[in-house]
Amino acid sequence: MTAPLAVVYHDEMLEHRPPGLEPELRDYHARKLRALLGELVVSGPWKHPERPERLSDLVEHVRGIDDGRTLWIEPPRADDEALLRAHTPGHLKHLARLRGKTRMLSLDTTAVSPGSIDAAYRAAGAAMTAVDTVVEGRAKSAFALVRPPGHHARAAHFRGFCLLNNVAVAARHARAAHGLERVLIIDWDVHHGDGTESIFESDPDVLFFDLHRAAPYYPGSGALENTGRGRGRGTTLNVPLPEGAGDQAVLRAFDEILEPAARRFRPDLILVSAGFDGTREHLACRWSTAVYAHLTRRLLRLADELCRGRLAMVLEGGYHIDPMRRALEQCLFTLVAPDRELPPVQRNRTGLPAVDRARDFFVESGLLGRR
Ligand SMILES: [Zn+2]
Repeated sequence: MTAPLAVVYHDEMLEHRPPGLEPELRDYHARKLRALLGELVVSGPWKHPERPERLSDLVEHVRGIDDGRTLWIEPPRADDEALLRAHTPGHLKHLARLRGKTRMLSLDTTAVSPGSIDAAYRAAGAAMTAVDTVVEGRAKSAFALVRPPGHHARAAHFRGFCLLNNVAVAARHARAAHGLERVLIIDWDVHHGDGTESIFESDPDVLFFDLHRAAPYYPGSGALENTGRGRGRGTTLNVPLPEGAGDQAVLRAFDEILEPAARRFRPDLILVSAGFDGTREHLACRWSTAVYAHLTRRLLRLADELCRGRLAMVLEGGYHIDPMRRALEQCLFTLVAPDRELPPVQRNRTGLPAVDRARDFFVESGLLGRR
């Protein structure tokens, strides 16, 4: 029987414990992290924001709200063959040298502890398992609850707490292992998925749609004009949003940019880089937690229309546990019961002109077809 939802998770991902308590690193961390996450990181006792509780609290919450219809799956670790579809051999060698060690990888306070490499391999394996689950029809949709996150990791570089690009590995796995031709990746994490963009910028078989707070906000990339390179020209769609952008902007971007682009692209699978850091507590945008239910419903409908309902989501960022928990809950409740009554979204119209500008730019560039 097909479950409405599979949740893919393994405790090994809690063994990634990036250092953050050493006094000698504290000022350095605080400076870097302020650039990454704003002022929210400097209050309270110091801890690395990408901490195990981000995931363990979410998993505990999801187990608590599960009414028995969720299929829980423990994923294997990804193997090197799968990772090499999105990463270089040099990157995997670098990871192998870090196994069992504690190291600051310097850039953006990305760091590892002795369990981090296995955790990262497990996270990539979880994203692949989410794909397997929906393609094989074991569940209608799947959510991989993972850490470390992935969307800032490039083929050959760590960045922004990310070691391996989970969603990129999953997209390439879908093509290689299941013979799917085209994959649509939607990145609704509030930070631009620079790693994912760089991996797929020349790949015409992956359409990458990314909503994010505009540069100079971290990571400073994701300009509207970057629409891909070479054969991949036209398969990267960045929608940069201003500070404080609200629900109406996000929904319009989905309705007027993502949906026509997806229909034109005709994906065989929809993957989501699902960060939950668009809420006001994260000090970048001001999305409600309810908007994640509305986005999820739109994606379910799009998946039903275009790719036999195949929809797999992979956790990315989110550092305030309470709003993350509520946003994830909105998403999962909608995956389990797509026709449920959804909570109202906010009327905040901040960001609408930026979305209109992006839509007009893509239409003029011929990327959405005719209006
Ligand atoms: Zn983020």
